[in-house]
Amino acid sequence: MKILISDAFDPSLPERLARFGEVTEDKDRLPEADVVLVRSKTKCTREYIDSATNLKMIIRGGVGLDNIDLDYARSKGIRVHNTASASSIAVAEMTFALMLSVPTRLIEAHASMKEGRWAKKELKRTELYGKTLGIIGAGNIGTEVAKRAVAFGMTVVAYDPIISSHQYAKLVSFDELLEQADYITLHVPLIDATRGMINAGTIAKMKDGVVIVNTARALCVVQEDMAAALESGKVRAYATDVWPSDPPDPSNPVLHAPNVVMTPHIGAGSRENMLRIGDVVVDILTEFAKEIG
Ligand code: NAD
Repeated sequence: MKILISDAFDPSLPERLARFGEVTEDKDRLPEADVVLVRSKTKCTREYIDSATNLKMIIRGGVGLDNIDLDYARSKGIRVHNTASASSIAVAEMTFALMLSVPTRLIEAHASMKEGRWAKKELKRTELYGKTLGIIGAGNIGTEVAKRAVAFGMTVVAYDPIISSHQYAKLVSFDELLEQADYITLHVPLIDATRGMINAGTIAKMKDGVVIVNTARALCVVQEDMAAALESGKVRAYATDVWPSDPPDPSNPVLHAPNVVMTPHIGAGSRENMLRIGDVVVDILTEFAKEIG
């Protein structure tokens, strides 16, 4: 079997996959590939799939499948796998880092020290303890976040229309979550129902001074509406790892709005996670190799 590694995986992966056949990182060899491994950079569009004339399987190292034209791949008989829960801990820890950076004033505190200023009096702090966290999408990552939020003494509510009970969160309606939460964190896939779900209308229903964390997908949030809510102070802070494109267009208003904590889509990028993703890829290919003999 010919395997094309098209995006950045753990450096140990080519060697680990050698027992399944020929492994290449040369993207020009796409037409020969039986299996292609992507993360989020490669866009498996209709044109991409059409040029992969031998393709039988796409493995997405990560969770979101929004960079793959799923319907078209399936219509061509190409199987699509992700590495479902491998990234949950990495993204949950990133979510917590972003969330904690706001009440601790971590970014301003660090920047002031670097500038040689002693801002002990100006940097008024608050705590996560006792606050209500609203989790939108209580799947693998949302659950890891909920578990950690309980340990921090937060009240945890969640909105997820697909599940009927949750171990760590009280399930509420979307509007109840918007009204009750001091902190809101997004852990939904980017699908029609979630695209733009945080917009001027839904922000208006939130508490004044709400903090919003996004390690899911940027386009779940209307970027212009978020920038306006940050300007007005309705939203106290927006902490985001995700952007409409990697990297974002320099004109994205979120880049220029006040009280934004931003990271360059590194939520899933931990060394441990890259190794876990490699383990799942090996499992998937082991099954596939058995099947094709
Ligand atoms: P998951 O499938 O385990 O959980 C998603 C949850 O969202 C499910 O429980 C589902 O029922 C729920 N959901 C679906 N539609 C909804 C809606 N309209 N409203 C509310 N909830 C809804 O996925 P996961 O592993 O928890 O990952 C969640 C998302 O995080 C991914 O789809 C991806 O977009 C993003 N992600 C980001 C990074 C990063 O690097 N920042 C890494 C991994 C995943």
